[in-house]
Amino acid sequence: GPAGFYAAEHLFRQDGLTVEIDLFDRLPTPFGLVRYGVAPDHQKIKTVTKAFDRIAQHPGLRFFGHVEFGRHFTLDDALAHYHQIIYTSGAQTDRQMNIPGEELPGSHAATEFVAWYNGHPDYRDCQFDLSGERVVVVGMGNVAVDVARMLCRTPAELAQTDIADYALDALANSNVREVYILGRRGPAQAAFTTPEAKELGELAGADVAVLPAEAELDLLSQQALERNQDRASLKKVELLQAYARRQPTNRRRLTIRFLISPVEILGNGRVEGVRLVKNELYATEAGTLRPRATHVFEEMPANLLFRSVGYRGVPLPGVPFHQKWGVILNEQGRVIDPDTQRPVVGQYAAGWIKRGPSGVIGTNKPDAVETVTCM
Ligand code: NAP
Repeated sequence: GPAGFYAAEHLFRQDGLTVEIDLFDRLPTPFGLVRYGVAPDHQKIKTVTKAFDRIAQHPGLRFFGHVEFGRHFTLDDALAHYHQIIYTSGAQTDRQMNIPGEELPGSHAATEFVAWYNGHPDYRDCQFDLSGERVVVVGMGNVAVDVARMLCRTPAELAQTDIADYALDALANSNVREVYILGRRGPAQAAFTTPEAKELGELAGADVAVLPAEAELDLLSQQALERNQDRASLKKVELLQAYARRQPTNRRRLTIRFLISPVEILGNGRVEGVRLVKNELYATEAGTLRPRATHVFEEMPANLLFRSVGYRGVPLPGVPFHQKWGVILNEQGRVIDPDTQRPVVGQYAAGWIKRGPSGVIGTNKPDAVETVTCM
């Protein structure tokens, strides 16, 4: 993926150094989440593959697709044939909410839906029941926004994207009328970025809505915003409050809700609804505003639920791993031996498997540079 290509690019830039790089991927095709994670209606973001193509033209680079580390090619093989190894395997699974009902049919990881509409070979046979009217997306990051937006796009909008054909057919025939994005904190803490939030207000076939009472900031958030004067957050809050003033029509509706957490997914044999608790914010000693459940509950009917509460890295056979953080144990990209706390000679990590699943594609560039500098 991006971290692998950016690391290769920076290695090739080293003056006076001849470098030969073999890039391995479990899938037959390169580019990782740019191919299978970026939403199909974000074609501009996908053009970054042109830069990766240029890096791949370097005579010192070879790509080997369909090779799984630990299965077709082991750590011992790598150590026998290479001077140095960089792990850039990303975050291949998702985090769970750990609430009752999470395993019911109709409750899915957003990452599976994303991989499905992007034609990922492991997910192309997934089934998402789009025959019901209501969908809940839990979490408020850019992945949640991608999923909600894709569910609200019209067939004409979808047809202009590079979405997988089977997903285009399924979404074009969907009965979905109402999509809810549920955030456990308030508008000032929403993890999605402002351009992505703005895009939700420009959908051809759906209205975006925010409940006026939930758009209002609580005292702690107001104080934090005034203190920090963070322009991006101020703009995002302004936008969300403007959405709260919009008059809905009878088109599809995408409602963004705040300070609310699912406590149980309800249903007899499949998802029929979700039980929610209202949250309030409190400040930790470090000054971060965290959610705390109140005693106010509500139930919301829903036919389909996506949890979008973050990706998670998986261990690679033989490579030190930090279970809690879901990353390879490392310092600035140097793999660390858990017993000695010393760097493992010749082994490095870059990208999400190094720092966790945060940041945009470009974030992987300085991240890879830091690792290569350590090499
Ligand atoms: P993310 O930005 O970390 O967002 C995760 C969301 O899940 C947060 O709103 C978080 O709330 C919430 N959450 C976590 N645990 C929860 C729980 N138990 N219950 C309810 N909510 C919970 O992650 P992401 O959306 O997976 O995105 C990953 C990275 O890729 C991000 O850096 C994102 O910006 C990037 N990305 C970018 C684009 C783009 O540029 N268009 C598109 C897709 C992804 P709290 O804030 O309260 O923890």
